[in-house]
Amino acid sequence: MRRLMLIAAFILSFFVPKMSFVDCQPIKASSVPLCNLKVNSMTNPLAASPPLISTPCLIVVDPGHGGHDVGTQSVSKPRYQEKSFNLVTAKFVKNYLEQLGYQVAMTREEDRFLSLERRARFANEKKPALFVSIHFNAALNPDAQGIEVFYYPSLSDKKRATKSRCLAQLVLKQLLMRTTAKSRGVKQGNFAVIRETQMAAILVESGFLTNESELQKIKEPTYLKKIAKGITDGIDNYLRTQKNL
Ligand SMILES: [Zn+2]
Repeated sequence: MRRLMLIAAFILSFFVPKMSFVDCQPIKASSVPLCNLKVNSMTNPLAASPPLISTPCLIVVDPGHGGHDVGTQSVSKPRYQEKSFNLVTAKFVKNYLEQLGYQVAMTREEDRFLSLERRARFANEKKPALFVSIHFNAALNPDAQGIEVFYYPSLSDKKRATKSRCLAQLVLKQLLMRTTAKSRGVKQGNFAVIRETQMAAILVESGFLTNESELQKIKEPTYLKKIAKGITDGIDNYLRTQKNL
């Protein structure tokens, strides 16, 4: 009997799709999240078997700038400040992630200054599954527009670099689907918050305040919600590809 079961398991192993974070393929939305505290076999009908993982899945969301550091600003008046858009978008992301059952810690929840070092230290102490920093962009060229996502190509921790790139790809994909904004791609960046953090980490540049037509969209909370939903879905897809959180 035991031998029969072993043979069956061997044959089955050819048909069960294997997941890997390297290829960045999200699993189906109907599947049980791999990283979700609220999923358990007692309360969730999706979970026919015991939960796949019982570790809390914490995400650190970092609204860029704050306080006297206003970030970038619009060229036209009134001068819209990046720090405010970052915070509003980050709060939307927090809400959406919590609706999916994730735990969220924010580096700041109000308009206050926080150094880059403190943000990174905050994340490293919390030991989350991932870190996402939310920003808006500016350029001298008023035509510059679109969304780009940065990760740090760490040479000392290549596994983290690979995970971060995967996260960046999935988040950008969902952001473009939600917003239909122009893609500026996934890029390597040497920003302190993604360099000094020790987990998968990305920095999202969600659009240009210096582009008048993009600014008109960014001013609308409905557009910021689309950005937040895109970031959330990308994070969710990424975490579903992870086996060993
Ligand atoms: Zn910024």
